[in-house]
Amino acid sequence: MNDGKKLLLSVKNLKKYFPLHGGIFYRHVGDVHAVDGVSFDVYQGETLGVVGESGCGKSTLGKALLHLYPPTAGKVEFEGLDLEEIPVRQLREMRKEMQMIFQDPMESLNPRMSVGSILEEPFIIHKGEHEFGTAEKRKAEILRILEEVGLPASAFDRYPHEFSGGQRQRIGIARAIALKPKLVVCDEPVSALDVSVQSQVLNLMVRLQKEMNLTYIFIAHNLSVVKYIADRICVMYLGRVVEDAPSQAMYEKPMHPYTQALISAIPEPDPALKKEKQVLEGDVPSPIKPPPGCHFHPRCPHAREQCKKDTPALRPTGGDENHRVACHFAEEIFEAASHLQALET
Ligand code: SF4
Repeated sequence: MNDGKKLLLSVKNLKKYFPLHGGIFYRHVGDVHAVDGVSFDVYQGETLGVVGESGCGKSTLGKALLHLYPPTAGKVEFEGLDLEEIPVRQLREMRKEMQMIFQDPMESLNPRMSVGSILEEPFIIHKGEHEFGTAEKRKAEILRILEEVGLPASAFDRYPHEFSGGQRQRIGIARAIALKPKLVVCDEPVSALDVSVQSQVLNLMVRLQKEMNLTYIFIAHNLSVVKYIADRICVMYLGRVVEDAPSQAMYEKPMHPYTQALISAIPEPDPALKKEKQVLEGDVPSPIKPPPGCHFHPRCPHAREQCKKDTPALRPTGGDENHRVACHFAEEIFEAASHLQALET
């Protein structure tokens, strides 16, 4: 799985619940189960795609990985260090290595700051931890970064509102890579952009990854974007990982009924390869009171009695340790679907 690569991030049974309070005494009345027992490893230089419908917990997961939300349970280890255990000062220094790119650059860039000031901020926050100690050195480095992300030097004195959506996302990327991080969590970085601009931004991210040996966690709500960029994909449903596999295996042999529905929704450019779209009934249930057993059972066309009671473990499938699925009947469902397809062709 790791091809001798270094383990960068290890997530173990991570849970993040947000308490709910109500009534006249403002008592604790429940929890939003945003992330509910997620485990995976990420190796240096790879891209892990995290996919799921809105409300499945993927953005909360992204923030919890960077310890922007302390975990309710479980742990996140970065380069072998438990982020919950290390002193605050060390965590602050470590943030230099872990950056984030947000979905809406307009919301994440301060409109009252020039691009030069926005990009200088990380150097000032982490002063003493890099070689750009003077304003002159910082400006030279910022101009280099602007060129690196495909923006002109004149951007330095301009403000975010003077740029297009794609250019603003380039500013967001420039800020994220300014301190040469190891890990970048990308939270739907191209969802707000026109399709024509999406591929330019994705190309830029791929190039930067190669040049800087970056590790990406790429969060997206559909599989078509991650298909382009991810080495491995985790599919999330209601706070849990339901399938985790190398990208190619995920597209060629999706084992979980939810993944199969997501893949069937990817538009097929070749009309000769027309495929049947599986429409999922209903919405994602509330994370305040998730369904018992398999969270997916109210929407799963293959659900049986056992699914309503027993939570399926995330386990290897097809004799492949790298391909894991959380479904009691995954192999049976896959075999039946393959048999049907063979009869139809
Ligand atoms: Fe569907 Fe049951 Fe599998 Fe859940 S465990 S995905 S409900 S068949």
